[in-house]
Amino acid sequence: MGTDPLTLVDLLRVANKPGFERWREQVRRTGGCSDPIHLQGWTITKDKTTSETLYAYSTQAEPGGRLRVACGNRRASRCPSCAWTYAGDTYHLIRAGITGDERKEVPTTVRDHPRVFATLTAPSFGPVHNRPTSGACRCGTAHLEDDPALGTALNPERYDYAGAVLWNNHAGQLWQRFTIYLRREIAARAGLSQRALADACRVSFGKVAEFQKRGAVHFHAVVRLDGPDGPDTEPPGWATVALLGDAIRAASGRVVVLVVGAGAQPARTLRWGTQVDVQPIGALGREELTEQAVAAYVAKYATKAAETTGTVDRRIGELCELDRLNLPSHTRRLIEACWELNADYPDRLLARWSHMLGFRGHFSTKSRRYSTTLGALRQVRADYRAIQERRERGLPELDPDDKESSTLVLAHWTYAGHGHTPGESWLAATIAQDIRQSRELVRELRAELEATGAVGEW
Ligand SMILES: [Zn+2]
Ligand SMILES: [Zn+2]
Repeated sequence: MGTDPLTLVDLLRVANKPGFERWREQVRRTGGCSDPIHLQGWTITKDKTTSETLYAYSTQAEPGGRLRVACGNRRASRCPSCAWTYAGDTYHLIRAGITGDERKEVPTTVRDHPRVFATLTAPSFGPVHNRPTSGACRCGTAHLEDDPALGTALNPERYDYAGAVLWNNHAGQLWQRFTIYLRREIAARAGLSQRALADACRVSFGKVAEFQKRGAVHFHAVVRLDGPDGPDTEPPGWATVALLGDAIRAASGRVVVLVVGAGAQPARTLRWGTQVDVQPIGALGREELTEQAVAAYVAKYATKAAETTGTVDRRIGELCELDRLNLPSHTRRLIEACWELNADYPDRLLARWSHMLGFRGHFSTKSRRYSTTLGALRQVRADYRAIQERRERGLPELDPDDKESSTLVLAHWTYAGHGHTPGESWLAATIAQDIRQSRELVRELRAELEATGAVGEW
């Protein structure tokens, strides 16, 4: 972390201000958020029967009269600490669907259910610079691993940029149809009607979207077969990893999404690329992907949007904005294609999603019975904090089952801005680093204990 003289001056100002310790505490509670939301307001907790005020809080006594709360952005380029929390949540969510979950929302018996890690990619939109194992790229160069030319068009004049962004734009539909066909293919292999399949077996998945260097979206998914009532029920005997893998390959090959011709654009038939990768997930097997590896892999991509392609991490309001941004030309052409197609396909909102190269889907999604939800994880954290706060303030513990609470909470909050001054920013980054280091230590320790079998459950 570099410190320029202005930051240093501001740092001293911040550290010498009254209430500095309290400010640090606030920022620590946001996890070292780099762009916290500032709130002003108050809250009062009263006893319903006696009207006695049990607790009163106002931001008036806080540093600058404000309370800072975490921004919650999942993008690492916007807020590293909130993105890190999000990645941790995604890891937990995907992992719970593979191994079961310590809070018993997903039973550990899912380890015995057929589970695979599948990758579905986009087809080719024209040859790109690459690093084939056989030696040199088609352009004659042996590209280095970090060569920015990798993934860009060999011949930009002939590359199908329009096709590429239309494909990204429809990737969500391609996925949706894939899940429908997957159930059909499984039913066919089991010799069942679709209705009979629903009574015997449930297909669950958790997936993330990732951008390849060439600017095409692809999907990584954990797919699992459960019994008829989800993870708690045993899958039928015919449900095997081999059957699931077969069905995934067949289903992905059958999916088509038709896009009508418009303006100068021809009608298109969108499909998945032919490279469909399916790997079994195993607890210990060497040939198989380990459960941890899959969850870590998936979580890694949850905080990256399309930034790996060199695009920007926020909406583009006007095409002329691109002149101020130093974008790689391949990426820029994909963004321009979105704007050019916008009038021909007005309901596809291509210009609005041009910073995502046309993609408008969610980055991580899961079927209902796959595992716990991000919302549930956030609620657990919020509940934990609320209990801590109540203890600190000496308030009676809440009975979670007691809907008829004996207390009444009155509150009023207003938005008062966001962010840090340069000195605050530096301090917040230091706090974020400290938190992260200690949490990583706990994670490593826990993984080690689990690996040695020293602990079964936490
Ligand atoms: Zn944040
Ligand atoms: Zn090349």
